Amino acid sequence: MKIESAPKIERKTDTEYLELLKTRLVELGEELRVAEEQYRELVTTPIDSDDERGDRQNEKQTAEETLTRIGSQIEEAEKAIRWAEKNGFVCAVCGKEIETARLNIDTASITCIEHKGQEDEIEV
Ligand SMILES: [Zn+2]
Repeated sequence: MKIESAPKIERKTDTEYLELLKTRLVELGEELRVAEEQYRELVTTPIDSDDERGDRQNEKQTAEETLTRIGSQIEEAEKAIRWAEKNGFVCAVCGKEIETARLNIDTASITCIEHKGQEDEIEV
């Protein structure tokens, strides 16, 4: 019987992870621009009926949530870039190298898996 070994997770270089983060930041900036445009359209298009009013209210709420989500993703990416440029991809709590599997899923991580609950409290 042939035993398949688990696929090896390749660690990228710090420079490559930083590049990924910066690319992500540019993409997020573009997403934000599109979302802001949609929001502006939503609040400036006149409403014809009461039915539409309810729909519009929901759409507006969804659009606001999207703007908030993208905004915090941008903050997160900027924070990770500030941290990584100074310290590399090490945990901001214990200084251990951040696990490759974690970085490959979320390059904006600034803590190891063990300390991921503390990520939001860390000021960089
Ligand atoms: Zn840690």
